[in-house]
Amino acid sequence: TNAVNDEEAAAKAAAATLDEGAPTIFDKIIAKEIPSSIVYEDQKVLAFRDISPQAPVHVVIIPKIRDGLTELGKAEARHGEILGQLLYAAKIVAEKEGVVDGFRVVINSGPTACQSVYHLHLHVLGGRQMKWPPG
Ligand code: IMP
Repeated sequence: TNAVNDEEAAAKAAAATLDEGAPTIFDKIIAKEIPSSIVYEDQKVLAFRDISPQAPVHVVIIPKIRDGLTELGKAEARHGEILGQLLYAAKIVAEKEGVVDGFRVVINSGPTACQSVYHLHLHVLGGRQMKWPPG
């Protein structure tokens, strides 16, 4: 087994047990029931450090209210405003983290993309040279 296969297995397991209404670990982070290292917060979005960083800067940005956005693939027209707010928050986070001159934003949607938490989120990655294509 290797790290990539572990990620794939975890993502498939997460999707297999997905109940669209079920809370995720991010609800506990929003409620501050479990600690997180918050980088940025406003009325609508919360940004905190990823527990398993894949780059020197790795911040997760989420909407505080999921409103059906378990994954980007479930987005509807009414989600346009929050999606824009999340993307703009990525720029604010990149600025705060000192990587605004070069950073990457990733959204994994669905098991094929290795999504593991079904509450839409952006990854902001920076602080090292990125490669293309991504894995
Ligand atoms: P996904 O794989 O795109 O769904 O991203 C979920 C991310 O959430 C992963 O990068 C995890 O490391 C991260 N994560 C999971 N639980 C926690 C936590 O409790 N605190 C911070 N990050 C977390």
